[in-house]
Amino acid sequence: MMSENAHIPKVILKKGREKSVLMHHPWIFSGAIEKIEGRISAGNTAEVYSSNGEKLGAGAYSPHSQIRLRLWSFQPEELINEAFIKKKINAAIEYRKKLDLFNHNGACRLIFSESDGLPGLIVDKYASFLVCQFLSVGVVYWKETIIDGLIESIRPVGIYERSDSEVIQKEGLKRRSGLLWGKEPPHQIEISENDINFLVDIRNGHKTGFYLDQRNNRRSILPYVKDKEVLNCFSYSGGFGIYALEGGAKFITQVDSSAEHLKLASDICHQNGFDESKIHYEQADVFQLLRQYEGSGRKFDLIILDPPKFITSSKSINSGSRGYKDINRLAMKILDDNGILFTFSCSGLLQRDLFQKIIADAAVEAGKTVRIISELSQSPDHPIALNFPESRYLKGLIGAISNR
Ligand code: SAH
Repeated sequence: MMSENAHIPKVILKKGREKSVLMHHPWIFSGAIEKIEGRISAGNTAEVYSSNGEKLGAGAYSPHSQIRLRLWSFQPEELINEAFIKKKINAAIEYRKKLDLFNHNGACRLIFSESDGLPGLIVDKYASFLVCQFLSVGVVYWKETIIDGLIESIRPVGIYERSDSEVIQKEGLKRRSGLLWGKEPPHQIEISENDINFLVDIRNGHKTGFYLDQRNNRRSILPYVKDKEVLNCFSYSGGFGIYALEGGAKFITQVDSSAEHLKLASDICHQNGFDESKIHYEQADVFQLLRQYEGSGRKFDLIILDPPKFITSSKSINSGSRGYKDINRLAMKILDDNGILFTFSCSGLLQRDLFQKIIADAAVEAGKTVRIISELSQSPDHPIALNFPESRYLKGLIGAISNR
């Protein structure tokens, strides 16, 4: 009888290029491959061998991407089949259950790509709906199995796809969004996060609809806001500002360039019954508004800076870094003496040390002293895999800002 892996194609690496695989890094770049034996097409599983013939694991083949192979497993004898994919899905869900993030009305990331051993797959849960991103040909190949596995283990009301990120073009995939299974989601889904209700538009919202990675950081502003004047820059659906109200802030200003996002933030405030007279919505460009406040002498006690990704490729490291420095310098200038700054960068290509250096430079230019109270990262449903350092992307600092 022929074994299940008799015809699996083989990828043989160049001499010395097995090192990262032995460290369990899941990516193999095209330049590391010496040759491929057997017929193979997009999404197929290939076995990976070192130049001296040692079997290292198995991965999904991606002919269009520079990342030619994403490894499923580093165990040479493990078979990649439906049972394997479902086992990974279940392990990811069990981990979220352990974190106590699996509440009926709650929202959390169930599957975080390489960090959960499923490269290219994102699955977020919003109450009884799931939103998926299939961002690599490997997970597209197993799409039916993945949907089945999610239905079996979660029993959702509906599963919606948001594979509309630009990165998928590098995989030779077309952007796609729409219903995958079950019922169409409502226009807005109500979720509960730390007892605050949020409305999430999973069809049109950013990412899969909500910034789940900031959950713990939003809560970490609570001790700092009582009776304070708070400025929430890049507010999206208002998260940090709404937590500030929950913590007893005197007044909050929510700033975003999008009128639609500000309207959503206002609906959410209304939904939670907060006093609207304590909130101002400002549709503006943060860079311009901070300069305007500086010119007019307007001051705040606490400022949140949670901008979009300023650095999207190695080409934009310098311009993106300037952007981070500008907003941080301006924010420090309009903080009252002994004010508090919550500052973030979600650019994975910006290392934490460099981010901290940018904040230090901004402080010198603003004529302020910064003491770091706390260092922040992504919420635990976005775990950082040590074999995949790229999974660490969100950096934040809580700084106490004083005049010299
Ligand atoms: N802090 C939010 C997430 C921020 S996402 C949360 O916790 O949910 C980034 C937001 O910045 C988006 O809503 C986008 O519309 C807005 N934005 C992007 N560039 C901007 C600019 N230059 N000025 C103001 N808002 C901007």
